[in-house]
Amino acid sequence: MNKREFLKASGSVMAGALLSRMGVGQAPKGAAAKLNRTNWAGNYTYKAARLDEPGSAQEVQQLVTSISNAKALGARHSFNDIADSTGDQVSLKNMTEMTLDKVAGTVTVAAGVTYGKLAPWLDAQGFAVHNLASLPHVSVVGACATATHGSGVHNGNLSTAVRAIEFVDGTGQLKNLLRTANADEFNGAVVGLGALGVITRITLAVVPTFQISQIVYENLSFDQLEHNLDAIFGSGYSVSLFTDWQHHRATQVWLKQSITGSSTPALPPLFYGATLQKTKLHPLAGHSPENCTEQLGVPGPWYERLPHFRMNFTPSSGAELQSEYFVSRAQAYKAILAVEQLRDKITPHLFITELRTIAADDLWLSTAYKRDSVAIHFTWKPEEKAVRSILPLIEEKLAPFDARPHWAKVFTMSHERLSQLYPRLNDFRALAARYDPSRKFLNAYLQNVFGA
Ligand SMILES: Cc1cc2nc3c(=O)[nH]c(=O)nc-3n(C[C@H](O)[C@H](O)[C@H](O)COP(=O)(O)OP(=O)(O)OC[C@H]3O[C@@H](n4cnc5c(N)ncnc54)[C@H](O)[C@@H]3O)c2cc1C
Repeated sequence: MNKREFLKASGSVMAGALLSRMGVGQAPKGAAAKLNRTNWAGNYTYKAARLDEPGSAQEVQQLVTSISNAKALGARHSFNDIADSTGDQVSLKNMTEMTLDKVAGTVTVAAGVTYGKLAPWLDAQGFAVHNLASLPHVSVVGACATATHGSGVHNGNLSTAVRAIEFVDGTGQLKNLLRTANADEFNGAVVGLGALGVITRITLAVVPTFQISQIVYENLSFDQLEHNLDAIFGSGYSVSLFTDWQHHRATQVWLKQSITGSSTPALPPLFYGATLQKTKLHPLAGHSPENCTEQLGVPGPWYERLPHFRMNFTPSSGAELQSEYFVSRAQAYKAILAVEQLRDKITPHLFITELRTIAADDLWLSTAYKRDSVAIHFTWKPEEKAVRSILPLIEEKLAPFDARPHWAKVFTMSHERLSQLYPRLNDFRALAARYDPSRKFLNAYLQNVFGA
């Protein structure tokens, strides 16, 4: 029985991503080899003829030299064909070393390392990364290659922590790019979509470890966002709003506040009219919060509060789709109202929408390039046909706001529109061509992005 049949038979398909994070939807034993040729969500089957798993940078060099078409593969958590290839997929999952440089304030990790492996190890030595995505199972390199983000008005996405990249380019040479030495080119290479080569090691800035407390409020009217959007999203280190788009409100506000010294978090009963939780909550009404990170103001380490779901829960696959669009924070309220007009088309196919903020940066292909942003995220039920028919409607509603799509999620825009949204896209194409002159790493996804 495959995963979908299992879900159907168990009547559990309704809960998708968020349930699969709770253990429903995990692959039955013995199906691993087959499932490994799909992405995590199971909505995309890789077409690559071969999967290679080199164990060192030298092996990557030999491999890249000997093959004509390849693409690096991370932890398979993207929802589209971004990591596919007509030839070989190259997984560095066996390369997992981590080195902390306390003096420089950096950590260097091999490309197989996930945030789930990095975070507790870093914390045990008194350090942290500045932010995390909603789940820890993505690889550091794969996340940074697609501008993966968390939330926080002062927090850049995860790619903004990158300080150096070591990679094997299309000619098989091992290259190093440093933020300090190669500024403009570096800004082009970080959110690289795997187009420049196979990254073998990446160096991130670290910060001293910190504590976070998390509280949840229920039912925040969208009216509050008209004049208070900045204040609401600025109320914590990281703030997320969840909505099903019905009743003109966010069903929940997840407020993650940093705790200094022995201070205890304030728990006011009202937050812009929303009411303080009485019990621990799951973002989806009626679902068990058992696998959600601790709430109710109990302080804990950054890596056990910034994701919404607990580190030690490791789903191998999930039945959901995701899309996400980034608009400027200044226009976010109007953009939210524009999407709200589609609520009765969206809600039947939606598990949940999450609204988050990302600070502006200088990375050419970052979704927050030169723009303080709000991300409008959709976790969809695994109904690809319905979702693909709604996405153009959402993209049309968001067009006046120049919404940029998340590179790793489902979207329908082609090169023409992307080049309007990313002013350095053609520079990026030229950069990729310089490091990959024979276009070894070009796949169908990149052809759409590059328009060639
Ligand atoms: C349940 C779930 C929750 C998510 N939550 C968030 C979230 O909170 N915020 C957010 O922004 N995104 C989120 N995502 C999206 C996710 O962060 C991205 O899809 C990310 O790219 C996944 O990383 P990965 O390691 O799985 O890489 P893959 O999906 O395997 O690959 C992604 C890209 O990275 C490239 N890549 C991977 N390894 C290398 C390498 N060694 N060298 C060069 N290129 C490489 C690939 O070629 C490809 O272009 C979520 C996804 C899922 C499934």
